[in-house]
Amino acid sequence: MLPTYEEFRLRADAVRSRIAAACALARRDPAGVELLAVTKSHPMEAVDLAARYGLRAVGENRVQEGAEKRARSSAAITWELIGHLQSNKARLAVRHFDRIQSADSEKLLEILDRIAGEAGKTQAVLLQVNAGLDPAKSGAEPDEAPRLLAAALAKANLRVDGLMTIAPLSDDPDVARRTFANLRELRDRLAVATGARLAELSMGMSGDLEAAVAEGSTIVRVGTALFGSRE
Ligand SMILES: *Cc1c(COP(=O)(O)O)cnc(C)c1O
Repeated sequence: MLPTYEEFRLRADAVRSRIAAACALARRDPAGVELLAVTKSHPMEAVDLAARYGLRAVGENRVQEGAEKRARSSAAITWELIGHLQSNKARLAVRHFDRIQSADSEKLLEILDRIAGEAGKTQAVLLQVNAGLDPAKSGAEPDEAPRLLAAALAKANLRVDGLMTIAPLSDDPDVARRTFANLRELRDRLAVATGARLAELSMGMSGDLEAAVAEGSTIVRVGTALFGSRE
């Protein structure tokens, strides 16, 4: 069951308070942390709730589901792909997503660049890195990130906004925090090495957003804390 708008507003306010508290501890400006509403597996109305509250964007993890919702939605909001992208879905993803946070291989970058070029579009991407070295997660290995970034920066039709990661599932909160610190340190090294700004660090979800903000997250991807469980 989706929350009513009033319920949603209270939940979103509470998430923003958590972000603000984490920012205060880290001496950061809360305006530097975007709340991305993860609407995956929720009905279209979830997108309307996020738009009405004034959020800039929603995140979907499946290309087909996101594309269908977007085609039917009249919400004034942008769409970000946060789930693994297979090459055979790349065309649909370029057509329907304003940004693809899950670019994780040179082959995929090549395909995205070609399709974006054909569509006359500059496709915004984040490079997904498996910064927690979690065998269960997709994303490029940290060691591969320099080559992946070099390939992405060379593509005429791609714009690289930064990096994205998902922390391993763990009872130990230090695991998430170390993962996020790894991603930030990797970003800092890559930015110095290439001169690319890589301003965005997409990291942190409902359960670990404080650790992510402490380590420099600029985009927290939140589903459950806004919409309730997905079953
Ligand atoms: C589902 C999902 C989220 C949101 O997770 P919650 O725990 O529900 O906040 C964030 N990022 C990605 C990549 C996801 O697939």
